Amino acid sequence: MRLLVVEDEHRIANAIKKGLQQERYAVDVAYTGPEGYDLAVTEDYDLLILDLMLPGMDGLTLCRKLRDGHRHTPVLILTAKSQIRDKVTGLDTGADDYLTKPFSFSELLARIRALTRRPPVTSAPVLTAGDIKLDTTQFSLSRAGKNISLTQKEFSLLEYLLINTGKILTKDQIISHVWDYDADILPNTVEVYIRNLRNKIDHPFPKLPPRIHTVRGFGYKIS
Ligand code: CA
Repeated sequence: MRLLVVEDEHRIANAIKKGLQQERYAVDVAYTGPEGYDLAVTEDYDLLILDLMLPGMDGLTLCRKLRDGHRHTPVLILTAKSQIRDKVTGLDTGADDYLTKPFSFSELLARIRALTRRPPVTSAPVLTAGDIKLDTTQFSLSRAGKNISLTQKEFSLLEYLLINTGKILTKDQIISHVWDYDADILPNTVEVYIRNLRNKIDHPFPKLPPRIHTVRGFGYKIS
């Protein structure tokens, strides 16, 4: 799952980025409105976290421009307490939710979960496909009751496949939702990670049906 944080206070932006990366999100940061807008229209994010007061273009304008251009990426707005009346305006311009600064990191995570398709902590934090169970709060995986350990990127890749169970995902879609802008992507990066996942999820269970499928010429899917 890949997020864009648009926030001009470097300290806050970098703290959010670091915290979200620990939660296995791929995160890009923009420090000005125009930079944020350019990234939001050229990259494929699962969620935008948008500060209101930004140099170059404020958050509300940015949000309105995105909606006018038919970009429907969910938007979470960050507002200072003194800007509370801006919340209503924010929701009117097409933002999906807002959070008042200062906020706790756990509240930010809860809002992000609500706006993306990662399941909420309170109901079912577990994504499944048959006998595969991925717990997105404990970052643990099991198949047929056997625990399997994953690296951060393997977790992110499997999470993205499971959220889209049954759908074919192209390599480009996988890259744009699992890796951030600064990541070093080689032509065979996705193949390598898919192979690693198969070695952990399918190959140790020869008597069970394989879950990860290659669809020649299109991409991959889990079923
Ligand atoms: Ca600001």
